[in-house]
Amino acid sequence: MTLKSKTAVITGSTSGIGLAIARALAKEGVNIVINGLGDAAEIEKTRAGIESEFGVKAVYSPANMLKSDEIEEMVRLGERTFGSVDILVNNAGIQFVSPVEDFPVEKWDQIIAINLSSAFHAIRAAVPGMKARKWGRIINTASAHSLVASPFKSAYVAAKHGIAGLTKTVALEVATHGITVNCISPGYVWTPLVENQIPDTMKARGLTKEQVINDVLLEAQPTKQFVTVDQVAATAVFLCSDAASQMTGTNLSMDGGWTAK
Ligand code: NAD
Repeated sequence: MTLKSKTAVITGSTSGIGLAIARALAKEGVNIVINGLGDAAEIEKTRAGIESEFGVKAVYSPANMLKSDEIEEMVRLGERTFGSVDILVNNAGIQFVSPVEDFPVEKWDQIIAINLSSAFHAIRAAVPGMKARKWGRIINTASAHSLVASPFKSAYVAAKHGIAGLTKTVALEVATHGITVNCISPGYVWTPLVENQIPDTMKARGLTKEQVINDVLLEAQPTKQFVTVDQVAATAVFLCSDAASQMTGTNLSMDGGWTAK
């Protein structure tokens, strides 16, 4: 089976893991809807680069994952432009690190909206088309924090546990329609999301940058190595393949052994 000429919507694909997934799917011949925040000229460079490098079509949706109507429009953009949305990767996410009693209420609301509710809105919009075509792949970027917790990340851990539950629930609902729903749970992947939380973790735990990297981040991973964005992307491509058609409702850990402890 080939993925050529299928269409994928990848949320949060202007950076990090989402961008790697978009590029890996484009390499398989999939047309791409990229999405995410960032500098307009940079995003256009990324979009045009996907087209020229992989010979597929790519469009950009500026949908803000805080807004349900914009999320629905992102899916419709894919359907209007390419005729279908076959693959949906719910990947956009943010982090905020703070003791629970100081956790800003608006940060809690944002994290639950972007890291959890946006997946619900996108799935809700994409499933009818997938059902009609009897084929679909929904992949949610969860996290090791969908299985275990770390202190000072209450909203993130709650949202990621929620994503794991949403994945299982929707997988059961669409199981007889040729649609699989899975999540990938990376440990620490070296992306802007990880880099940007280092100063807050330094503050919350009273540590230096080196101590945060070695004693907090890599401390969690028995392999003592970061996961790469390309490893996560390769797993997403595998989940889209025929070989993975009986894998649904699973939570695939890629965490250097973190959650085996
Ligand atoms: P990143 O910061 O590099 O990318 C996040 C993406 O989400 C960006 O494209 C950003 O523009 C987009 N985004 C943020 N807010 C948005 C909004 N309101 N509307 C639309 N797009 C928005 O981070 P990343 O590390 O690549 O994270 C991607 C996903 O992987 C997240 O869900 C994150 O929780 C998860 N994850 C990351 C790690 C890690 O160690 N980096 C580990 C496990 C899980």
